[in-house]
Amino acid sequence: MAIINCRICGKRISNKAKSCSHCGAVFSADGSVENLESAQMIQKMKKSSRIQTISFISIIVFVIGILLWYFEVNLTAYFNKNLGMNLQFGKEVQSVAKYVLALGFVGYVAARFMIYFNKKK
Ligand SMILES: [Zn+2]
Repeated sequence: MAIINCRICGKRISNKAKSCSHCGAVFSADGSVENLESAQMIQKMKKSSRIQTISFISIIVFVIGILLWYFEVNLTAYFNKNLGMNLQFGKEVQSVAKYVLALGFVGYVAARFMIYFNKKK
């Protein structure tokens, strides 16, 4: 028994396996994939839903970054001025917000690229 990579999803499976436990591809005796088209389609759908999740999370991360930024810049000043509070949100919050914004943006752009290339294939 040897470990090979599944021809559809690329995950590691036994060469004796009749089907892939990861993507459901069914192999015939000569090694070809019996349900090639549906296996490929399922694989593509799984991939695109994964990409959509990445893009969704990226948008949330981006919004959190904006909120952090806004909170630091505006709300702190607003509270301090109008409510006589003395909130101290240092520059740390702003630099964290910058990283969060960048992370969300990069994640979103990467997800858009992945959607594009996934469709092209
Ligand atoms: Zn597979």
